Amino acid sequence: MTVPIVHADTYPLHDPAFEIWPGGRLRPYFETPQRAEIILDALRATSWAKIMTPEEGRYESLPLLVHDGDYVWFIRNGFKEWLSTQPSVPEGYPPTYYPSSFPPPRARRKLKGEARLNAAEGYGYYTFDLTAPLLEGTYEAALGSARCAMTAANMVLYGDRTAYALCRPPGHHAGRDYSGGYCYFNNTAIAAKILSVRGSVAVLDLDYHHGNGTQDIFWEDDRVLTISIHCDPRVDYPYFVGFADEVGGGAGEGCNLNLPLPPGTTGEWYRTALELALDRIHLFDPWALVIAVGFDTYAGDPFSKFDLNTGDYAQIAQRLHALDLPTVLVQEGGYHLEALGQNVVTFLEPFNS
Ligand SMILES: [Zn+2]
Repeated sequence: MTVPIVHADTYPLHDPAFEIWPGGRLRPYFETPQRAEIILDALRATSWAKIMTPEEGRYESLPLLVHDGDYVWFIRNGFKEWLSTQPSVPEGYPPTYYPSSFPPPRARRKLKGEARLNAAEGYGYYTFDLTAPLLEGTYEAALGSARCAMTAANMVLYGDRTAYALCRPPGHHAGRDYSGGYCYFNNTAIAAKILSVRGSVAVLDLDYHHGNGTQDIFWEDDRVLTISIHCDPRVDYPYFVGFADEVGGGAGEGCNLNLPLPPGTTGEWYRTALELALDRIHLFDPWALVIAVGFDTYAGDPFSKFDLNTGDYAQIAQRLHALDLPTVLVQEGGYHLEALGQNVVTFLEPFNS
């Protein structure tokens, strides 16, 4: 058997040179195009990866499945509007739009008409941290990434057992109307939304960081169960969200499960949390599963305070494959460049049967 791997050639168009870290330090941007190249090279070396491009067409309305129109407008046009207001841009790296102002709590209001066009400052409305700058190619790369998720979801919707979307940039921190955490369009949420036309869907987020955007998008939705296993937000990003008492609201109350784990989490502890997640999925009885797969839980990852190794990924993936559900895998984080390719291959391998 083969595993379809959907990958778009737009990923190198988004390539920030630096990111701003606490204390005002600048350091090289961790979420690099190289990540996708490494994954692709590792998959090409297998006998079972069937690499393909997304469905033909631009699908510019695709992000509207889970995002607000004015937000999508801003991701598409904000950079150009901002650049036109800049008398000069620093040399040495590509023009990069980081916001400098953010709405104070309880003062967030929709920008409309002329105000929306004030893109020189407007991006602070649409992003919640300083890790998701806008560059000339950001929109194209984010749209390409979303199209990979769409194509993988459509393949499973129309009968494939499994498909993997090699999404870059990632998406699970992006909410209905905000970017953040390297994310612009929520690829995982797009895949889940597409699959939900047939019935209820479970999303399992295995990235080291809480899938706050996905949780937010489906907060009141009882057709999509969202589960995230991640580092305790008291210890790590995104800090303000991802706690165990966040269970969903309205019709979606009880359809969100957060399983925060402490620093030092081993593969054994992790698999205990995974069993809780699998029990919840059984109860929910979805027709399909979306796995937001991140490898920043790896012991050597620059972000990780967990202690997972490549062998743990094999065991986790085997448990998930044993669920015997139609499954879309969507790539999220993972920044240990030497191990990333092998970790992805190891995770996908059980789905090749
Ligand atoms: Zn992450």
